[in-house]
Amino acid sequence: MRLVMKFGGTSVGTSDAIRQVVEIVRDTARNRQIVIIVSAMNSPDLRTTDSLIQAAYAAAAGNDSATAEVAPRLLDMHMRAAHELTTPEECSRLEPELRAMFDYISDLSRSIAVLGELTPRALDLISGQGERCNARLIAAALRGVGLDAEAIDATDLIVTNARFGDATPLMDQTAERSRKRLLPLLQRGCVPVVTGFIGATPNGITTTLGRGGSDYSCAILGATLDADEVWFWKEVDGVMTANPKVAPEARTLPVLSYQEMAELSYYGANVLHPKTVRPVVQRGIPIRIRNTFNPAHPGTLITGDTAAGTAKAVTAIRDASLITIGGPGMLGLTGVAARIFGAVARAGANTLLISQASSEQNVCLAVPRRDAEAAVNELRCELDNDFAHHDVEHIGVQEPVVIVAVVGSGMRGTPGIAGQVFGALGEAGINVIAIAQGSTENNISLVVTDADGDAAVRTVHHAFAMEAS
Ligand code: ASP
Ligand code: MG
Repeated sequence: MRLVMKFGGTSVGTSDAIRQVVEIVRDTARNRQIVIIVSAMNSPDLRTTDSLIQAAYAAAAGNDSATAEVAPRLLDMHMRAAHELTTPEECSRLEPELRAMFDYISDLSRSIAVLGELTPRALDLISGQGERCNARLIAAALRGVGLDAEAIDATDLIVTNARFGDATPLMDQTAERSRKRLLPLLQRGCVPVVTGFIGATPNGITTTLGRGGSDYSCAILGATLDADEVWFWKEVDGVMTANPKVAPEARTLPVLSYQEMAELSYYGANVLHPKTVRPVVQRGIPIRIRNTFNPAHPGTLITGDTAAGTAKAVTAIRDASLITIGGPGMLGLTGVAARIFGAVARAGANTLLISQASSEQNVCLAVPRRDAEAAVNELRCELDNDFAHHDVEHIGVQEPVVIVAVVGSGMRGTPGIAGQVFGALGEAGINVIAIAQGSTENNISLVVTDADGDAAVRTVHHAFAMEAS
């Protein structure tokens, strides 16, 4: 069995956390081939990636010692962890290597300060340095307990386009390079420890895959290496039926479909982003989310199967604004919806939910509250003429509102689910302001006032006995 697994920044943020990781790797590597992908150390005292990015911007603003100030602290954090985790021989090999890396970016940041300009390309070089250090540290920690492990920079494996800061992998070239480099290591029983977040253009210039990009790195390698499963080690037991801060009886879902995962992540649950895991989803590779700090828990298994159950989870997006555009002349006025959404898009607002009843007297849409004002201004410009003709008579905003989404692939084709949702809310005295359900029937979304948000989540959670099933 071949596993590709990623440890997120908190899972590798302190020496205690890394000790857990070493235990997990030791256990899982026993009778399997495993590749691990690591984020930068995200310690409560020093967030590596954030501090590197801040230093790079400070350099661009003229502070020529910005990186030189943070570099020794980062070096110290990594070396202190190394001394706790591995042998003196490993530490004395690691130290000059990490020091050279920090010297290099300190030099680079002095040049940035001289030029007074930070290019996206230079930012990628600096911000990806944390992963390079941590892969070396963790490989040293694994060797410290007698495992065969090797740190590998993903710049040798993941080939991307040159869109710095948000690069896209070129999958064919990536497959060729990663298989050539990693398969022989796996065959000899070695654990490759690969940097998350970074890649390189075909000519070898470092890129990054976007903030939080280590999940993407893991999915890319899982796909190109034909992994049997891809695991994401995080600081939670898995995907939950609801936010436990809102619904204390929420529990971890043992199984979920890809589709359900996507719906949940769109609706604000802290799950894997669908774009990030597309490479493994396309190939039907099962995904597991597991807890580094509770490895005995089986976590959540996510596959292409539509697992049993109807409404499985309920999530909420807070701080939304509901914009309603209405007027008697909107009936049969072709193109008005296109113009409305065009205007909202021009305002840079992300539409979270759309609803229009077939009377066509009004269209309502929800956007994040911070975008509402710009969206409304743009709508007023766009619809100026329609106001003059009284086709459109009002643009109203209600805020803050909460969008509650009830998710489950099994809701499709099952009558009565919507009835159960709205019946329960009605009984609880919660007023529903707007409703949307796409024709995939995976998700029923509704809008309630901010004051009703938590109660709505708890009511739906309870109505479908999500805590028990
Ligand atoms: N270290 C990178 C970040 O903080 C990538 C990751 O952790 O996924 O964005
Ligand atoms: Mg992260």
